Amino acid sequence: MTCRELIDFIADYLVGELGESERSEFERHLILCPSCRAYLASYRQTLELLADDAVIEDVPEELVQAILKVRR
Ligand SMILES: [Zn+2]
Repeated sequence: MTCRELIDFIADYLVGELGESERSEFERHLILCPSCRAYLASYRQTLELLADDAVIEDVPEELVQAILKVRR
């Protein structure tokens, strides 16, 4: 899995909608790649802020969808 693919999968990963094989590839990449670990950490932090109704402008549509799924 490349960094770009990992970033595409992050929203699905966080809401638990990744298939088993994608999930294990995702986690293997995270172990090997500090920059993706940092990206995931900041992504998750943003998600938590939004879940607390913090106002953040320019939220990407896929992030909004991920939050809606988490809240359901
Ligand atoms: Zn990476």
